[in-house]
Amino acid sequence: MKIPDSDVVIQGGCAKVADQLVKDKVYVVWNPGSQFGICNCTWAEMGNTCEHMFKVINLCRKRGSTMPSISIFQYHKALIDMLHCPPHDSLIRDHAISLAVLCTEAVECTC
Ligand SMILES: [Zn+2]
Repeated sequence: MKIPDSDVVIQGGCAKVADQLVKDKVYVVWNPGSQFGICNCTWAEMGNTCEHMFKVINLCRKRGSTMPSISIFQYHKALIDMLHCPPHDSLIRDHAISLAVLCTEAVECTC
């Protein structure tokens, strides 16, 4: 069954794929774009690679070739936000700051 692009929403670390039979039902694919994605449908729970994972992989590849990675930019922005407004837990804050610095360097290098 063919899943239209509009039925797939990729957000952060997961992708939501609308069921083609029951439109209210949504499957969640974790680790989108990776062959090691995890879906919560029954077919995937039996250890198979389901149509939702295939769709998300295809969509990621398609988007990756047509436009720059927006998700990396959003990830970077989220890290910078954390840097400016750090959580109280110092371990998380240290981790966030080191990630943000790494990310900033990576972004500056590619510009
Ligand atoms: Zn699935």
